[in-house]
Amino acid sequence: MSTGYVYHPIYLKHNTGAHPERSERLIAILDLLKKRNVLDRLVKINAERASIKEIEYNHDPAYIKHVQAVSEREGALDLDTPVSKDSFDAALYAAGGLIGAVDQVISKNVTNAFALVRPPGHHAEYAKGMGFCLFNNVAIAARHLKLHHGLQRILIIDWDVHHGNGTEHSFYDDPSVLYFSIHQYPHYPGTGRIDDIGSGEGEGFTVNVPLPPGVGDKGYLEVMNEVLLPIATEFNPEFILISSGSDLHKLDPLGGMNVTSPAFGKFTDIVREIGDGVVVTLEGGYDLTGLSESVLAIFGSLAGIEVDTGEMALDRSERDVADVISNVKKVQRSYWNI
Ligand SMILES: [Zn+2]
Repeated sequence: MSTGYVYHPIYLKHNTGAHPERSERLIAILDLLKKRNVLDRLVKINAERASIKEIEYNHDPAYIKHVQAVSEREGALDLDTPVSKDSFDAALYAAGGLIGAVDQVISKNVTNAFALVRPPGHHAEYAKGMGFCLFNNVAIAARHLKLHHGLQRILIIDWDVHHGNGTEHSFYDDPSVLYFSIHQYPHYPGTGRIDDIGSGEGEGFTVNVPLPPGVGDKGYLEVMNEVLLPIATEFNPEFILISSGSDLHKLDPLGGMNVTSPAFGKFTDIVREIGDGVVVTLEGGYDLTGLSESVLAIFGSLAGIEVDTGEMALDRSERDVADVISNVKKVQRSYWNI
């Protein structure tokens, strides 16, 4: 059993200025992995530059040119999403890094992997960058799994505190990609209602679990055990991608979910019960301690290494999730045995 990680120094050159999504995030993660002697036990996966054709798997060619042009002159894709000279290249290497991780897992060179990339991707739409995201890395990787490896059942689990609108829209009518999101609601970007379940052939292959703030470790574990596990097990994925934000961490300035660092390890344990072939990609997470500790906890689970990130807080929950779970089940019962 071996666990890979993706990293490339160009990820630090996506310069966002005074912005929560900044290069120090990756530096803090790598520093902690080194300090805890975990990095040495992982297999380094080289990130290659994704080709324009690969980005076109999921994005409008005119939008790709737009990102390149704005990046060259330094500007912003929207109010939240500044880009610098190297941002276009960094974004190509972020998507390429995730493709590389997927390929290494498919070819069984590693058991699983975590792509430590930036810019993040899950808010990026077909023809629009937003919410700190340029290209939708996880959606591009899912399309690569379909087109290049012929997979027909891919599960994307998105536990970033924000709903992954871009990823959901990419596969809204596609039954080969099950998009499962747990997110704070109402919150940015405003999407991810329980009733949004996919359309056409993809009806029932989008599962949204919008949670009130403050549900803590306990609420997340209940959702994973009572909704994610049964649906995902029935779907029987050939490959699992995790859009892992750490902005549900209790220290995060942009989220209010009150989740502890070790809970991220537990979440990963639960996902590994669903099946083999797991690649995690970094989305949000803006408190450097919360981010690096939660990523460490995820690596601990992926690699089967004991890591001390403190204790979960299973008795503390400001809000109950029973109503949300019951409403999700009511809607999804037409498609799944839950
Ligand atoms: Zn987020």
